[in-house]
Amino acid sequence: MSALRSTTSLLDRLANGPVVCAEGYLFECERRGYVQAGAYVPEVVLDHPEVVRELHREFVHAGSDVVEAFTYYAHRGKLRVLGREDVLEELNRRALQLATEVAGETGALLAGNVSNTNVFAPDDASRNTVRAMFDEQIAWAVESDVDYVIGETFSWGEEALIALAAIKDAGRTAVVTLAIHRDATTREGWSPAEACRRLEDAGADVVGLNCIRGPRTMLPLLRSVREACQGHVAALPVPYRTTDDRPTMQSLEDDECDCLPDGRAFPTALDPFTCNRYELAQFGRTAYDLGIRYLGVCCGAGPHHVRSLVEALGRRPPASRYSPDMSKHSFLGTDPALAEENREYADQL
Ligand SMILES: [Zn+2]
Repeated sequence: MSALRSTTSLLDRLANGPVVCAEGYLFECERRGYVQAGAYVPEVVLDHPEVVRELHREFVHAGSDVVEAFTYYAHRGKLRVLGREDVLEELNRRALQLATEVAGETGALLAGNVSNTNVFAPDDASRNTVRAMFDEQIAWAVESDVDYVIGETFSWGEEALIALAAIKDAGRTAVVTLAIHRDATTREGWSPAEACRRLEDAGADVVGLNCIRGPRTMLPLLRSVREACQGHVAALPVPYRTTDDRPTMQSLEDDECDCLPDGRAFPTALDPFTCNRYELAQFGRTAYDLGIRYLGVCCGAGPHHVRSLVEALGRRPPASRYSPDMSKHSFLGTDPALAEENREYADQL
């Protein structure tokens, strides 16, 4: 089962070129009907493991270099809200097992995952609570021999630093990314550049930004992070058309629709804002040209976004076998075997 398990570390791979990590499992499983919007707890890991296994495979097929264990929000705080703390360990271990299976099948890197706890506050009691939550999840990841651990979507810089300390104390490579909301700072008021610099100084192997912002409104922040940091930088936007006025997916407003349950597009009606695959390709090239080597897509990502991003970096993942070839389209194509009357009708489509 683990015959292909990667023998090249994340840092070795980054030394030789870009690494792509597909994220966004919560949104994609919700869209498919296996995760409930609201609590956003990955119960699908226990209830429908075949769905998670298949999504891991689809993302690797599309070119993801990493299988990220689906333990996002599978922490004590979230499960307590659902009254399901009793399945905390089982859920984490099962998620790690599913990711281990697919990493073994494909040769992809295996990553553990922790995220914002939503119980952090800048006081000692909270610091101790969240550290214990990180420690227990990271211990399970280490038992699964993950290649590295991702700490992600932190809007408190200090919470990110606590996650980083937990990952490094467990002896693992750490990728730590911040989620930057509308005012373009962490919740304690650090600029993204300052926050990433602090994380790097504290020993993070890769620092950067993920989630919340689309390509257009994440890029300006990424430039400042790239300038402020010495080491590897990560960029994993959401694939939504965020704007200067609406820089985050949470702040997007859909003036074309009068049937949104509470007037908000986030999180279940963002469809009309979705970036196309070419916009993700453009983002990938721009970020790479800035010197950013750890790339991916977060909430809202589909395999087609991942494939285009990977192809923009000069690669041909297995799914590229089916990348578009419009020359064979019945009406829009140019292949001489196509019916001439259809090709002539193309401008009537
Ligand atoms: Zn996300």
